[in-house]
Amino acid sequence: MEDINYKQRVICLHDALGIPASYATTTPLSFYEEPDVLVKTELDFFGREQRLTPNAEKAWVKMRDHAALANINLVLISAFRGIDYQAQLIRRKLDQGQVLEDILCVNAAPGYSEHHTGRALDIASQDCPKLEEEFERTIAFSWLRENAADFGFSMSFPRGNASGIIYEPWHWCYSE
Ligand SMILES: [Zn+2]
Repeated sequence: MEDINYKQRVICLHDALGIPASYATTTPLSFYEEPDVLVKTELDFFGREQRLTPNAEKAWVKMRDHAALANINLVLISAFRGIDYQAQLIRRKLDQGQVLEDILCVNAAPGYSEHHTGRALDIASQDCPKLEEEFERTIAFSWLRENAADFGFSMSFPRGNASGIIYEPWHWCYSE
């Protein structure tokens, strides 16, 4: 991974999106590099290819299969996202007229999303709107609360977290 080059790309993307230079020094979020190795996992809910680090992929499959044994269907929504894709997500919202400050409470700026690590997953349940707080009322979420830690996953943005990111009951990250 070319460190300096990556940081420069992040700075360029921030610039293009109008994210102030102060973001980097004031955000409580960490700066994440993209991993060197990613492997394919299952297609997501939308039929898109998704990738994770090899260890995160193994842990996800194990967790998903254990959940299935308990009749819980964990639906994959999003896994690895590169900095360019993260910038596109933000650009799309800006183009729709959303305010940057509001967008950054939902989408971390490029370089600061845990999805860059290839260890973060957005998980949904069939019976619930995707990426909505309501997910916390599903049995899938209850199962994750009880069992995810056994597979190395934890919720990154619990209610009232200090990161500046909204409560995200659907976002879980694997720790190596
Ligand atoms: Zn997420």
